[in-house]
Amino acid sequence: MSCVFCHIVAGDIESSVVLETDRVLAFMDVHPATPGHVLVVLRAHLESLADLDDEVGAAMFSAARTIAAALRTASAAGTGPRCDGINLFYADGAVAFQEVFHAYLHVLPRSVGDGFTLDARWGTDPARVELDAEASVLRGMLG
Ligand SMILES: [Zn+2]
Repeated sequence: MSCVFCHIVAGDIESSVVLETDRVLAFMDVHPATPGHVLVVLRAHLESLADLDDEVGAAMFSAARTIAAALRTASAAGTGPRCDGINLFYADGAVAFQEVFHAYLHVLPRSVGDGFTLDARWGTDPARVELDAEASVLRGMLG
């Protein structure tokens, strides 16, 4: 077993646990992008988004929502890091910045001036016919 998240789930590597359920373990990221950055990791070793079924995916999202609410509450109470907003970030594949090939979801507290950015060249008004064509292809894949 060489997967770092499997070792953390097994308790072989220490972590600062935030939430445990039968499906997920959530803990503080040791390299936080923003203060209070939490990782929601599946207990099962599933590598990619395509490996998740709806039940596991829902468990991951539910845990992230619960943690997001706790981050906001702690911030408002002055007992946690500042949290004026939340980003959920799921990286699927190396090109999408997946660093550990064991499914996980980032919960990132956000505040003005926190330095977090998504650097992208956002599209510039594609023609409706292009959008419709892309949507048609995807609808065809949904079965
Ligand atoms: Zn794993």
